Amino acid sequence: MKRTYVIDTLKEIGNTVKLQGWVDSKRDHGKVTFIDLRDTTGVVQCVGVKIMSELGTEWVVELVGVVKARPDNMLNDLMPTGTIELEVLEYSVLNKCKELPIPINTDGKEINEESRLKYRYLDLRRQRMAKIIKLRSKLNGEFRKALEEHRFIEVETPMLTKSTKEGARDFIVPSRHNPGKFYALPQSPQQYKQLLMTAGVERYFQFARCIRDEDLRADRGYEFTQLDLEMSFVSQEEIMSAVEDIVKKAVTSVGGKLKESTFPVINYYDALNKYGADKFDLRTDTEKKEGVLAFAWVINFPFFKKVDTSDAAEVQDGKSGWTFTHNPFSSPIPEHVEWHLQQKNIDKIVTAQYDLVCNGYEVGGGSVRAHNPEILKATFKIMGYSDAEIHEGVGHMLEAFELGTPPHGGIALGVDRLVIILAGEDSLKESIAFPMTSSGRTAVMDAPSEVSEKQLKELHIKL
Ligand code: ASP
Repeated sequence: MKRTYVIDTLKEIGNTVKLQGWVDSKRDHGKVTFIDLRDTTGVVQCVGVKIMSELGTEWVVELVGVVKARPDNMLNDLMPTGTIELEVLEYSVLNKCKELPIPINTDGKEINEESRLKYRYLDLRRQRMAKIIKLRSKLNGEFRKALEEHRFIEVETPMLTKSTKEGARDFIVPSRHNPGKFYALPQSPQQYKQLLMTAGVERYFQFARCIRDEDLRADRGYEFTQLDLEMSFVSQEEIMSAVEDIVKKAVTSVGGKLKESTFPVINYYDALNKYGADKFDLRTDTEKKEGVLAFAWVINFPFFKKVDTSDAAEVQDGKSGWTFTHNPFSSPIPEHVEWHLQQKNIDKIVTAQYDLVCNGYEVGGGSVRAHNPEILKATFKIMGYSDAEIHEGVGHMLEAFELGTPPHGGIALGVDRLVIILAGEDSLKESIAFPMTSSGRTAVMDAPSEVSEKQLKELHIKL
């Protein structure tokens, strides 16, 4: 007999079906045992006469029975399957379950983070978390649909690569075949997505894993996911308008309510004056309660800033004392290209960067890129790089820019953040199936961990 999903039992009144899932709860009334059976689609009440009393909660079972309409006085309108129940004829136990180390029938917020992440596979069974995982999958699907309507093509880029600067330290990976040489894990697919524009892909997207060795905060691990995209032959306005359409379609398709159907555009310095920050919340108190989404664009950021000497990555990037505010691959706005090329008025150069904010968070950032090699070179010169260092760092980009690279630009949207905003949660960790602990240890599996002498030797590493 084929398996029926819980939610589909509604269409099977009078039929014999086979269900599989977990015992969500059990009530023993002597001769009669009631079970709420849970699978990925929901929960249904199942009744056994003189059977099933041995079962415990979270046991994995298979039930065969007849779907019956409940009598009027037994209807439960709090349950989507509250109009029916399964009269169990036979059952088998697929796996037992010991006493759970953490409760899963609450929202879980009362449990400490260590325990939740150690037993994340149980934590994810709780209704609140299962809902978030599904929301994330649905949102990704809606993004894909909208992107395809806009002729975007999904392309994957390497994880073992060369450093690409996003203002953090790199995670590096030793190469067994090249003693003393290392790969870097991508801080973003920035350079590859630009090279895909050289390749003629014209419109690229990817749900990209980005890995940055940044100082940890309660809410931030080393890995996160961006919806990364890039487009050719477009102006800043055209990119912003395409992205806005894609974001609106995706978030409204999963139930998001927009404050404004056209996202307001605000200058960086105006935002600082008005809201004291470049991330701000445009919602009224009522809109906050209603879970409204208030998106806005921020534009006209300064290209460069003075290096913060307490930030090691900035010190490394900005050898001259100047470093980029957002992205070294950006172009200045057209009016400032001359200053940029001549490396003058550095503090006044404005980058063709746009950030997307929502409800007080930055949910995306992108720019029109330099596709003229002289502009990219000037960016690194301003940051104090020698010709040799520029060649070593981005020589491949400069070369591609001399081989028919079209004008292009793009953005990366923070998927983890968007999911959290849509789910009405506060911690980014709640949108990630297996996030890190606040001290940078992996969920469930205990990494980082030691490796054997033999592995180290093969990698030519001495500790
Ligand atoms: N690569 C940038 C980032 O990760 C986003 C972009 O400019 O497309 O922030």
